[in-house]
Amino acid sequence: MTFQDFNFTERLEEALSFMNYKEPTPIQQQAIPLVLDNKDLIACAQTGTGKTAAFLLPILHKIATESSLHHTSSVNTLVLVPTRELALQIDQQVEGFAYFLSISSLPVYGGGDSGSWDQQKKALTKGADLIIATPGRLLSHISLGYVNLKAVRHLILDEADRMLDMGFHEDIMQIVKQLPAQRQTLMFSATMPDKIRSLAKTLLNKPEQINIALSKPAEGVIQTAYLAYEPQKIPLLVQILDEKKDFQSIIIFSSTKKMVKIIEMELRRRRFRAQMVSSDLEQAEREQAVQDFRSRKTQILVATDVLSRGIDIKDIDLVINFDVPGDAEDYVHRVGRTARAATTGVAITLISERDVPRFMQIEELIGQTVPKSPLPEWLGEGPRYSTARQSNGGARPPAPRSGNGGGGDRKKPFRHDGDKRRFSERK
Ligand code: AMP
Repeated sequence: MTFQDFNFTERLEEALSFMNYKEPTPIQQQAIPLVLDNKDLIACAQTGTGKTAAFLLPILHKIATESSLHHTSSVNTLVLVPTRELALQIDQQVEGFAYFLSISSLPVYGGGDSGSWDQQKKALTKGADLIIATPGRLLSHISLGYVNLKAVRHLILDEADRMLDMGFHEDIMQIVKQLPAQRQTLMFSATMPDKIRSLAKTLLNKPEQINIALSKPAEGVIQTAYLAYEPQKIPLLVQILDEKKDFQSIIIFSSTKKMVKIIEMELRRRRFRAQMVSSDLEQAEREQAVQDFRSRKTQILVATDVLSRGIDIKDIDLVINFDVPGDAEDYVHRVGRTARAATTGVAITLISERDVPRFMQIEELIGQTVPKSPLPEWLGEGPRYSTARQSNGGARPPAPRSGNGGGGDRKKPFRHDGDKRRFSERK
């Protein structure tokens, strides 16, 4: 199958060939005909499957070819997304696909300066074919009365599960109230818990369903893990990074903002070119951090999970999970940053004693056992890979044996915060 089979308008085909899109991915093959046929759709698919183009291409085609849809003074398509990064990324894809079309799009997200608020206000007052927005920010604009969503024909909820995890349910419902009942609604979600199904029941009309099965980490990813107590992790991380000096692009994921900050500080102290991204940073700083990483100015990006979904950074050599992600799909997402497009990459996970059961679940879900590497001898013994109570109760890890390298650097005590909420960006 090729993109020609969809009979897209010539200018869209031209853009696709410029962008080197040759063959539609499975989700595109399944979703595009349904979207062109004006069906509602609920799709279980993750980042990396090509889901963005699966909804953007048919909608751009429709806007370009049906003159009734193309009013420059009103909003035709509303895409709701959980994060500003995703909003920007989708907007960039629109720019690419719509390069030869006169279609306007506008990302609307919070966190910028007052200039960006005014800019959004101006554009929202004027109207744009596509608006790609985070729910909270869009609602703030709506409440001021100048946003007209009465002509919206397509509503897309992207990463719907993440939006609910971030507490956007109420905002989404408020926004939907502004939309005409007669519209096409598409919902994309990486997971399908009950709350997503019930949201779909409320918002979608006789939806078609597409399931792109839980992706396993790509074939090319070499996965390993270390069992390490919390205080052993930083010294271990430093040793791993010392050994991988020739790796150009490394991402370290941690579930908490606090830990991300500590890791960045510890690495910078040792002269690594490391930069963190978390929602604590200003919007401009976050964009700059991602851009510096993309252009290889920084070698190491330290990030919370928000970045593991949605953001498309290619050619990562190494992903390090500083802790075990909340669920198997997050693991697949994080590990999926490396070895994209059939190149090889390495993914290393540090497992503390309290993370052992969770990692066992992940291994079960991905259907493979991840080999465990022994700790360097000077770090002392790590926890055992068993759900049985650890011999020392897991409370007091043995001290690293000598002060060479990281062992003696342990100034900050590491605490377990015991907070296992599902949402990833904990304080
Ligand atoms: P997504 O899952 O939408 O985040 O897409 C992941 C990446 O794959 C993005 O960089 C897209 O530009 C790219 N992509 C999506 N569909 C195709 C395709 N059919 N051919 C080539 N690249 C694609």
